[in-house]
Amino acid sequence: MSAPQRISRSPSCVLTFDVEDWFQVENLRSLFPCGDWDRVPRRVAAATRTVLELLGEDRRPATFFVLGWVAEREPALIREIADRGHEVAAHGFGHVLPTQLTAAEFRDDILRARKVLEDLTGQRVSGYRAPSFSLPGDYLGILGECGFSYDSSLHPFSLHDRYAPLDGLGVPLRPGVFPIDGGMMELALPVERWWRVELPISGGGYFRLYPGQLFRRLARRAIRRDGHYVMYLHSWEFDPEFPRVRVPGFGYGFRHYNNLKRTLPRMRRLLAMMDRLGATCARADHFLEGVRRSAAAPARMDTQAQTPEHADGLAVSARLDDRGPS
Ligand SMILES: [Zn+2]
Repeated sequence: MSAPQRISRSPSCVLTFDVEDWFQVENLRSLFPCGDWDRVPRRVAAATRTVLELLGEDRRPATFFVLGWVAEREPALIREIADRGHEVAAHGFGHVLPTQLTAAEFRDDILRARKVLEDLTGQRVSGYRAPSFSLPGDYLGILGECGFSYDSSLHPFSLHDRYAPLDGLGVPLRPGVFPIDGGMMELALPVERWWRVELPISGGGYFRLYPGQLFRRLARRAIRRDGHYVMYLHSWEFDPEFPRVRVPGFGYGFRHYNNLKRTLPRMRRLLAMMDRLGATCARADHFLEGVRRSAAAPARMDTQAQTPEHADGLAVSARLDDRGPS
């Protein structure tokens, strides 16, 4: 397998959103066990529609990793996501960490989620992201056996106690994109590395924690370095008014509630910066298909790799001009 290569001039910005409600996160599990979820008023549809409206302003395609539990209760929302041209992918059914599931339980969880999503949209679900980026490496093969084409559960931030490392993926096709035996691919979240320490730069609570200008600078560095940028946020991070509860565990409450009002304005500024960089938003499945096609056409890649870099010094990436309907 060849090392990562440059294949076209336009960098890609892969926006991903985990569709779940504010009370379904792992840090609140002791307060809101799964059996109690139906007693809590849902806010996920309104929060996700805020994301859809934001993306619709400039017709930006994105990928939504949807919880099967949410899809069963909010079918109109899931159909709307698909009808607007976005990718509907799976976030498991009940938001149980794969590290807490046996292989058989994991298989049941992803198949159940996938069936709900495919029945609602009439479209194939090809992508998966584990809750809390907690996928054991030996479960990748199960995803492939169950018909998934890619996984996006690798967040290589070693200081987080729940993130699974997914070691041994081998040589990437390009930074953060790994081919996996059986035809699957892994789409990793980017980090900034300082000596032996990783700094998360791909979104979530870190997007709300860092000063906005610093986050944009780190994202800009990533897109120059890798030629693409993968970002993730949760639906509930666009809902600053969700109920306040006392979150058990040091720092978890701060992490959950910090700067929620800034998510939307900061996203607008980040997207404006991506526009200035000439980045094109792409669904994860389309981006990976472009990488796959380019990797299968080495002669064409070699020719294009000799073209000069973008005038402002951007590294270059797969061109995915897929600003679909939204
Ligand atoms: Zn989640």
